[in-house]
Amino acid sequence: VSDLQAVLRDVPDFPKPGIVFKDITPMLADPRLFGRVVNAMAAPFRGQHISKVVGVESRGFLLGAPIALALEAGFVPARKPGKLPYKRIVERYSLEYGADGVEMHEDAILKDERVLVVDDVLATGGTADATARLIGQLGGHIVGYSFLITLDFLDGAKRLGPDKVTSVIRY
Ligand code: IMP
Repeated sequence: VSDLQAVLRDVPDFPKPGIVFKDITPMLADPRLFGRVVNAMAAPFRGQHISKVVGVESRGFLLGAPIALALEAGFVPARKPGKLPYKRIVERYSLEYGADGVEMHEDAILKDERVLVVDDVLATGGTADATARLIGQLGGHIVGYSFLITLDFLDGAKRLGPDKVTSVIRY
């Protein structure tokens, strides 16, 4: 974990003054660390019959797609409004730095499918919670949430159900 922490770069005042942004790009550029992160994020959900991994735009795509393959599950993108081409459903939420929405294709999850939600950072939990509501709208069952980083002081896990949240690193 310490060599991993060393490559997660803190960028102060991005994208707004007062926000310290966790930049994961140096980790992605290192194949050994990237592989370890994918394994560590998938491990708690092996053998749990996950059939879809939902990755949240955009860093959730980078982590979610290899985690989906590691779990022999399909991958589903949850995207910012206006990006998905087919029929979609939408949920709105407020973010640490602004307000936004998230969309999913209406046929992305089947009823009772077992779903894992993946993103790089859990902050307030607003994004993951909106994504969970999308999955709920489609009748999916959320088995858990896998994050690379949890910012514990923002209490996001409380909002999602602490027993469902796993994270490789916490601050
Ligand atoms: P939340 O909705 O407040 O939990 O914020 C989580 C979302 O914002 C995720 O999609 C993250 O990728 C992004 N995010 C929030 N803080 C950071 C950060 O410090 N670094 C990278 N992404 C962040």
